[in-house]
Amino acid sequence: MESQKKYDRTFSFEFFPPKTVDGISKLEATSQLLAELKPRFFSVTFGAGGSTRDRTYETIIDIRAKSGIDAAPHLSCISSTQENIGQMLAGYIEAGINRIVALRGDMPSGMVEAGEFRHANELVEFIRRETGDHFHIEVAAYPEFHPQASSPTRDIANFKRKVEAGANGAITQYFYNPDAYFSFIDSCEKNAIDIPVVPGIMPITNFHQLARFSDACGAEIPRWIRKRLQAFGEDTASIRSFGEDVVTGLCQRLLEQGAPGLHFYTMNRAEPSMKIWKSLNLSND
Ligand code: FAD
Repeated sequence: MESQKKYDRTFSFEFFPPKTVDGISKLEATSQLLAELKPRFFSVTFGAGGSTRDRTYETIIDIRAKSGIDAAPHLSCISSTQENIGQMLAGYIEAGINRIVALRGDMPSGMVEAGEFRHANELVEFIRRETGDHFHIEVAAYPEFHPQASSPTRDIANFKRKVEAGANGAITQYFYNPDAYFSFIDSCEKNAIDIPVVPGIMPITNFHQLARFSDACGAEIPRWIRKRLQAFGEDTASIRSFGEDVVTGLCQRLLEQGAPGLHFYTMNRAEPSMKIWKSLNLSND
């Protein structure tokens, strides 16, 4: 973990672009509350195949203006063209955005055309070629390895390609086993990869939703956590209380061992992340 200890801690919160007027006002309230914690930035996801292109842009502009917190759009390149990506980058530069989360994304179901980018390292290369050092670029990292990776060694080598292409930092897929993260950082150090790798944190509030996401993205819910959550059935209060203890304990261990911050997957809700934040006694003052 030595490589990680030299970096300043970065705390950030991730949102998805809301679809409805109600969703927009809920996100506004959420971002106002989380802004009080003075995170380094908010980020907003980008739907597969560009399905949220305009909403991601509008959400970024809106939450930055209303909260005063730096905002970073996610940008995924699968099934896109250089022209398309170039236009979005130009729009963000014009709007004064200088941080971006660069991803490959996943092919929308039913689509077969892969577009002009195959992997995220090509997107990072393109952003650097077209816009120089304008953007601080974050990329994705997978302590439990990406589900499509042919081997851990290849996955680390592919992660390194993104760093060599110009990524400044990484945010991980969520995980509940801190040893997976420590071991991933160890592999990074052995492979001369030296950028801050901030753990992605998914608060636990709803077992069925979490199980569905985890199956889709390949994140593992350890058996003991899954069994405990299943046993609570529909007892939401117990699920939340147990989830808060587990995730707070995870964050505590990560920070104590030198993780350079935390990135919360908020699902557009302030309360679960705020509770963990308060239990950890975190402060950005
Ligand atoms: P890559 O880095 O391209 O890796 C994908 C796979 O290809 C891996 O198995 C890797 O080992 C392999 N690979 C990488 N480069 C090469 C290469 N050059 N040659 C051969 N193989 C290679 N998805 C969205 O649609 N929208 C979002 O907003 C979004 N936000 C995310 C935020 C975070 C922090 C994380 C962790 C994930 C996010 N995702 C998002 C999900 C992400 O798009 C998927 O996990 C996707 O499957 C991989 O994206 P990537 O950028 O990691 O791809």
